[in-house]
Amino acid sequence: MSIYLMLLGAPGAGKGTQAKRLMEALSVPHISSGNIFRENIKKQTELGKLAQEFISDGQLVPDDVTIAMIVTRLEQDDCADGAVLDGFPRTPTQAEALDTILADLGGKLDAVLYIKVAQETLVRRLSGRWMCRAAGHVFHDEFNPPLVPGVCDYDGSELYQRDDDRVETVAERIQVYFKQTAPLINYYRQRGLLVEVDGDQSIEAVTDALMTVLPEGTAQ
Ligand code: ADP
Ligand code: AMP
Repeated sequence: MSIYLMLLGAPGAGKGTQAKRLMEALSVPHISSGNIFRENIKKQTELGKLAQEFISDGQLVPDDVTIAMIVTRLEQDDCADGAVLDGFPRTPTQAEALDTILADLGGKLDAVLYIKVAQETLVRRLSGRWMCRAAGHVFHDEFNPPLVPGVCDYDGSELYQRDDDRVETVAERIQVYFKQTAPLINYYRQRGLLVEVDGDQSIEAVTDALMTVLPEGTAQ
């Protein structure tokens, strides 16, 4: 049986941090649309060149481009038993597309885990975020510092601060979230898929809260 979960929340809510932990608990891949875009930008692929400007302006990459990218990723063999989606879907059009994609794969979205965080927390989290170049592992200089400053604990790669974590871009991304993505909270609530956890707690406490709301029989 497959298990497809989606993490929903504002930029800085802790989706990437928790997705890595859920992925280990559930043995399914973590699919971060943001990480896929960043890898493509690094390699300067056609997709990367197309996405670059939207991302550095704090805007969403157009739906058709994003949906095509996610279809390609979800069709890969390692997603046959499920995935933890982080950052996709971000618009109602993407949410509808996801239903079709998963149905074509013989699965369905099992739960939407909404990490709710106060708006003032988001800016503090994003301004102190450090990300690893190799695999997108996430740290924070105050809340989750790496053992050695500037070095990823997991793979030893260099840590960097994202260009779109600059204060001006963060403000734009938060606005974009409230306008374009937050409507998905009700969309999924009405479908009975939404479970909400308080993201204004320690990383450990959020993981514990998520583990208790996972659909029955999911965690291994
Ligand atoms: P998102 O993927 O939702 O944008 P991240 O997982 O990248 O968010 O987290 C944003 C920043 O906040 C990172 O620097 C991360 O280390 C930190 N962080 C994540 N969850 C928590 C938490 N519960 N408490 C404090 N800091 C957190
Ligand atoms: P993230 O790493 O999730 O914070 O995403 C970084 C940036 O990538 C976002 O601010 C968007 O510009 C772009 N992006 C990521 N996921 C999507 C998506 N599902 N739809 C559109 N743009 C996205």
